[in-house]
Amino acid sequence: MGYGFLKLLEFIKECIFEVIYDGKSHCIICERYLEESGLCDECKRYIVLSHNVYTMRCLDKLVNCYSAAYYTGTMMELIRRLKYKSDFKSGEIIAYYMKDRIRNFIYDIDFITYVPMTKKSLKLRGYNQSKFLCNLLSKEFNIPVINCLTKTKETKDQIGLSQEQRWENMKDCFKIKKSQMLKNKKVLLVDDVFTTGATAYFCSYELIKCGVEKINILTAAKSKV
Ligand SMILES: [Zn+2]
Repeated sequence: MGYGFLKLLEFIKECIFEVIYDGKSHCIICERYLEESGLCDECKRYIVLSHNVYTMRCLDKLVNCYSAAYYTGTMMELIRRLKYKSDFKSGEIIAYYMKDRIRNFIYDIDFITYVPMTKKSLKLRGYNQSKFLCNLLSKEFNIPVINCLTKTKETKDQIGLSQEQRWENMKDCFKIKKSQMLKNKKVLLVDDVFTTGATAYFCSYELIKCGVEKINILTAAKSKV
C-alpha cells in the first residue's frame, strides 16, 4: 500500500469524523472534543519529556543521542499509532516534540537521515515511520534528507531479547550507499525509539567509516530495557 493511498484513507477518515462531530475537532488519543484537532491537555500531561543526552563512543567519535520524550504514556501511544495504524497525524505531533529538541540542542546539520527498513518490511508497512518524521523535520529546518543507509538483514523483534542478544541481532545489518556525499559532513540520524542504542551504534559505525564528521541521533522516544 503506497503512502499516497494511506494519505487518501486518512483524508476520508477525517471527512467522516467531520460529519459525525459536526465540524468539531477532537483529541486524537481520547477523542475528547477540542477547538483544534491534536492532543488535549490531559493527554499532553502524559508525555514525559527527556531533557538529558546520552553520549556513546563509536570508532574515534563521540555520538550524542537525544530523545524528545520517554517511551511511556501518550508518546508510546502516538508512536504505536504512527507505526502500526498509519496515523500520520500522530506523526505530526511526535515531530513537534522532536523539533523542540533540535531547536534547543542540535546545531550545525548538513543532512538528516533515518534508520532504514528492509525492503520486505517496507513493503509490508507501506512507509518508513522514521523517514516520515525525517521529512517533517527537514521541512521545518530546511535541511535536506539523504537516503544513505540500507538494511540488508531482517532482524528479530527486539522485544523479549536480552541486552546482549539485541546487540547481536542488529550487528552487520546496515550498509551505506551514496558514501561520496558523506565525507566531512554533519549528519542527524532519526529513529522512532532508542532502547539499547544498538541500532544507533551500528548505523553510526557505517556513517563514520565513510568519513562523516559528526553524528547526532534524535529519536522520538527512549525506553528502558
Ligand atoms: Zn486526550
